[in-house]
Amino acid sequence: MGKARNRKHPPRDSFRRQIDYLRVSITDRCNLRCVYCSPKRKKTHFAPSDLLTLEEIARFVRTAHRHGLRKVRITGGEPLLREDITGIISAIKEIGVPDISLTTNGVLLARRARELKAAGLDRVNISLDTLNPVRYSEMTGGGDINRVWEAIDEAEATGLSPVKINVVPIRGINDEEVMDFAALTLGRDFHVRFIEYMPVGRTSICLKGVCVKKDELMEKISTLGSLRKLPFKGKGPSRNYRLEGAEGIIGFISPISEHFCDYCNRLRLSPSGMIKPCLLSDIQIDIRTPMRRGITDEGLEKLFLKAVSVKPEKHKLSEQGSLVDLPSMSEIGG
Ligand code: SAM
Repeated sequence: MGKARNRKHPPRDSFRRQIDYLRVSITDRCNLRCVYCSPKRKKTHFAPSDLLTLEEIARFVRTAHRHGLRKVRITGGEPLLREDITGIISAIKEIGVPDISLTTNGVLLARRARELKAAGLDRVNISLDTLNPVRYSEMTGGGDINRVWEAIDEAEATGLSPVKINVVPIRGINDEEVMDFAALTLGRDFHVRFIEYMPVGRTSICLKGVCVKKDELMEKISTLGSLRKLPFKGKGPSRNYRLEGAEGIIGFISPISEHFCDYCNRLRLSPSGMIKPCLLSDIQIDIRTPMRRGITDEGLEKLFLKAVSVKPEKHKLSEQGSLVDLPSMSEIGG
């Protein structure tokens, strides 16, 4: 099926939010073991046959695109561990989705950036929680920071830009580096995004008191210069600012201190084919079993619309109330 221009308005959920964004986690495997993301105990992974295939992912994206889907983000686990990542991106591009992005730790990106761009990838978010090579290795279970910097440079050179750098500040681990990260935006057009730590899953860090909230981050960063608020375009969780004279942007994603559920426009698809209407709820709708049993396109469309209609109004996460029983982010795709 060819590229189709989509004139349809995205569906609204029960709280009048238009749902036009899908985050697809394509694997639960990762080549790093970040302290706040990977489960503490050794995890069993999905068998290859449990994962949605390229064709199944494309079929679901096509269904959502018939209903006005405008944006897809590929995540994981580490999405670049999937051999067919380029094929997945081309298939989504071919369907006609206007905006395709990828969240990655960057370790495997440098050598594939060009091929991914050619397949239709628009932008990348690269996760980098420290600028210190030794700490990087400690926080990630042995990762090499040089490969991440190569990836950042290559992503910029290839036009997968602006490169967004995701940082999760964690008290006592990397919080003293917040200003160094903010200073990166002075000389280069990076979008550095500080994400508040969400206490989800059984990871190896102590859950309480480690989240560094937006107000504290802004106070620290303001010592570098004045932070000007940029207009909010009404989509996405990041609230953006620019340091005076800076090339790049600083964003704050604050699920703990500022719920952004009122603006949430997304559904998630898990590696094993569960639609999750909210990252932080256990509601999920299986599409893999029905697809493998021959569900019609109309039937699949009904499951998509059902997922939209059961999207919860807001998440119930607070710093005190951790959701240890949800799968860790490395599985759901943060
Ligand atoms: N492997 C890829 C990567 O490292 O970017 C994609 C998956 S990772 C789960 C996606 C994002 O979720 C990363 O930017 C990571 O920092 C963020 N993340 C993971 N656990 C988190 C948590 N408990 N709270 C906030 N963000 C988290």
